[in-house]
Amino acid sequence: MIRQLALSVLLATWLPASIAAAADDAPAVKVPRPPHFVSAKDWGSQPDPIPDARRHTPKYVTLHHAGVLWTVDRDPIEFIRNMQAWGKRRPEIEQPPRNTFWPDLPYHFLIAPDGRIFEGRSLDYEPESNTKYELAGHIGVELMGNFEEQRPSPQQVESAVRLVAWLLHQHELKLGAISTHKAVAKGQTSCPGRDFQRYFDDGQFAKWVDAVLAGKAPTIDLGPPLDDGPTELITETKRK
Ligand SMILES: [Zn+2]
Repeated sequence: MIRQLALSVLLATWLPASIAAAADDAPAVKVPRPPHFVSAKDWGSQPDPIPDARRHTPKYVTLHHAGVLWTVDRDPIEFIRNMQAWGKRRPEIEQPPRNTFWPDLPYHFLIAPDGRIFEGRSLDYEPESNTKYELAGHIGVELMGNFEEQRPSPQQVESAVRLVAWLLHQHELKLGAISTHKAVAKGQTSCPGRDFQRYFDDGQFAKWVDAVLAGKAPTIDLGPPLDDGPTELITETKRK
């Protein structure tokens, strides 16, 4: 016992401060699954089987918006069910090259304006996209709404932050794994919209995620509207 104590004192003295501190802090903060989580089973997901050739190992978390203006009269569950059904009907209703069959939702998670997080495609499989980039490795997280024309709600952004922190923790990924559709499919899309992309460009999103990873509650302050950017929150947009 004494011998062990002496050894640990010796090590603590000898080790560089950063390594000694890391050893003291272990085990790392456990990041819980975020609240307001709705499993695929709970919202009634009905995926078709996905071929084994599309299995992947998650390496990145990539953020999207729906790109469709959200109005307060809409129902998130109906929106998701319609998207899943549309994916399966693409061969019949879409023109090439968009007429590929999507057996399940293109995204792994979808976040409603009220902050609910809906589980989509299984994380075991790569996502889908109408743009060209190497899909394997990407976890797709979509926020409902169109952030070229409306602003995300604080609850929606907080759920995105908590979800991304949980995913980084689960898959042992670093903050650098966080990206957006626009960044990975350069020149092909403005997704996730300028009023959400801004928090990636200024590093704010990563700071919020980092706070959650450190066991703190992030203070989500969306800041003022961008110059020439949308001013209305997604929770305020009425059907015209
Ligand atoms: Zn996208």
